[in-house]
Amino acid sequence: MNIRFYNSMTRAKEVFKPLSGKRVGMYTCGPTVYNFAHIGNFRAYVFEDLLRRTLEFFGYQVTQVMNLTDVDDKTIRGAKNAGIPLDEYTEPYKNAFFSDMAALRVERAEVYPAATDHIPEMIELIQTLLGKGVAYKSPDGSIYFSIDKFPDYGKLSKVDLDSQRAGERVKLDEYAKDSVADFALWKAWDEDDGDVFWESPWGKGRPGWHIECSAMSMKYLGETFDIHTGGIDNMFPHHEDEIAQSEAATGKTFVNYWLHCGYLVVNGEKMSKSLGNFFTLRDLRENGWRDREIRAALLSGHYRKMLDFSERLLEQTRSVLKSLDGLFDRLSRRVSSSSFDTPEGSLGDAVEGAGKVFAESIADDLNVAGAWAAVHALAKQANKALDSNEVSARDAELALDTFRKFDRILAVLDVPSGDGGANGVPGEVASLVERRSAARKAKDFASADAIRDELLALGWTVKDTPDGAVVTPTATSPPGK
Ligand code: AMP
Ligand code: ZN
Repeated sequence: MNIRFYNSMTRAKEVFKPLSGKRVGMYTCGPTVYNFAHIGNFRAYVFEDLLRRTLEFFGYQVTQVMNLTDVDDKTIRGAKNAGIPLDEYTEPYKNAFFSDMAALRVERAEVYPAATDHIPEMIELIQTLLGKGVAYKSPDGSIYFSIDKFPDYGKLSKVDLDSQRAGERVKLDEYAKDSVADFALWKAWDEDDGDVFWESPWGKGRPGWHIECSAMSMKYLGETFDIHTGGIDNMFPHHEDEIAQSEAATGKTFVNYWLHCGYLVVNGEKMSKSLGNFFTLRDLRENGWRDREIRAALLSGHYRKMLDFSERLLEQTRSVLKSLDGLFDRLSRRVSSSSFDTPEGSLGDAVEGAGKVFAESIADDLNVAGAWAAVHALAKQANKALDSNEVSARDAELALDTFRKFDRILAVLDVPSGDGGANGVPGEVASLVERRSAARKAKDFASADAIRDELLALGWTVKDTPDGAVVTPTATSPPGK
């Protein structure tokens, strides 16, 4: 099946063709570790996880690189205010980031390069740019990229170059579109930097934020790679500047597919540290929300659309997951009553239909709404069939397996593993339950009761549920122990 992604570069959906067979190189801009990541940041990381899991679902082998920005304007300011060295300041936020990512079931990237471990690579790249005449030294000893030497500047963000003020420079890592100007590759040390500096051919200083991602992505993924992602706010200036630096240095296309997620908003406003309208995973947990509910809420809408994150959304998500949990429970019980009173299966078509809709939706630019619709359609059919006792143990297992398959991408469904079901019931026990069910059907309750006692003696309790007989290990130790 073809996968299609909306490529921010061309502003169109394109069939995804990796550079090399089923291998995919993917770079995802990581956190600036100056504070705890907020739930808006996690929207971006969960979107990237959805992308990664989708590629894996379709058989691609992904090499994902996610950087840790541990030196930039914000981290330096934070360390200075706290009066501690930069690495001491960033360390706890790095750790918190990894533990939050694991809690949100985000698969680990293959490489997490930290900017401070890659200063020589950045210096080398800046030297190349100086050698090519696209970078220059300013009077204070900083090195700037000259955007008028790179005719393609603006091709990703379609920034209006007419508003560019010739010869003007911007030293800050973050700036708005109306300040498009030559940007800093290397910032000469000044007093504000305190003891944060590295030696370079141009004297002591530190790298700009944008050069970090160019140097680290190309080091681990090559000069041209498949996918680069981030939140939409990364498109300008960060990704635009990454393209300029990388392509000016190599003369090659830097990235083939650019994917950006929309904002997570609160009451219509982008969640951000600067607006103060943010909450972290910790805040949400304190209010009683579970990690998987938060992940599911982050996956409730299309990644390119704005996501309004609210209490209401979390409540809805909780109730959806709860009703799915109930279904998985029923299906599991059906499985563990395996072959005891097997009705004709009727879920085969529903399973096949849902599988098809799920795969087609997710392959269409990660359409999660379509994928969720497939989950709900199968859930509805399964509940209906269970209500009328039309689900064979085999079909129940098939349905559970299908939900497990969906969960390789969604990672929120918590389908019980198969081991607790019929597979975990010894053959002797299964055949006793089967004989008991047959006896009950024949209204031979004396035999049925005798078999129930026999099962108890073996350490198994049998119960009759609307979905059939279920056996579970008796809570206490088996007799004789
Ligand atoms: P930062 O640590 O600010 O560099 O952000 C890390 C990632 O989170 C980047 O990919 C940003 O684009 C993304 N991001 C920040 N705020 C939001 C938000 N409110 N909604 C979606 N993504 C965001
Ligand atoms: Zn980046």
